[in-house]
Amino acid sequence: MTTTPRWRPAACPNCGEKSTVKEIVRGMPTSDVFDDPHYAIYGCVITSGESPEWVCTTCDHEWTPDLRLSLGESFATTGRDVHVSENDLTWLPRIRQRLIAVAQDAETITYRDLKSDVGFPHAPSAVGRLMDLISADCGRRDEPSLAAIAVNSVTGEVGDDFDGDPAAERANVFEMWSDAGYVAGAGG
Ligand SMILES: [Zn+2]
Repeated sequence: MTTTPRWRPAACPNCGEKSTVKEIVRGMPTSDVFDDPHYAIYGCVITSGESPEWVCTTCDHEWTPDLRLSLGESFATTGRDVHVSENDLTWLPRIRQRLIAVAQDAETITYRDLKSDVGFPHAPSAVGRLMDLISADCGRRDEPSLAAIAVNSVTGEVGDDFDGDPAAERANVFEMWSDAGYVAGAGG
């Protein structure tokens, strides 16, 4: 089993600073973490409600990213190189939310319906490219790919360049997001 390095935001979304983005650690850290400048130690602070994951020590902005993708990143996927654009960062969180809702019903959705449900203003063919990024984002969350449930309206199946067995991945998606099967943080 290989481990990929933990994802980090490329820059603070508030001030754009790159070097002072730190991962928030709550509770009692190990000495390794305590000495590592990549972390901000919050100790046993009682928070009400939201618990942001990242802090920028330049501007004190705290946030939890909508996506595990950063502007300008590129992915070599089957058949194409995909670069993360500002447009992607706008639409992908909405598409992810819609796909999660569909997954909870254990259904699939066509690219065309997905596009119209979220109001995506570009051609249906552009949705296939976004699915590559959805897969990358899911992978960084250790989740099965939500792209497995987005299908072509003609073939009823995912695009040719889907990486893996779509039927098996779809079963994993349904299991994860069904009310009975989903426990946050389970597995691994
Ligand atoms: Zn900042």
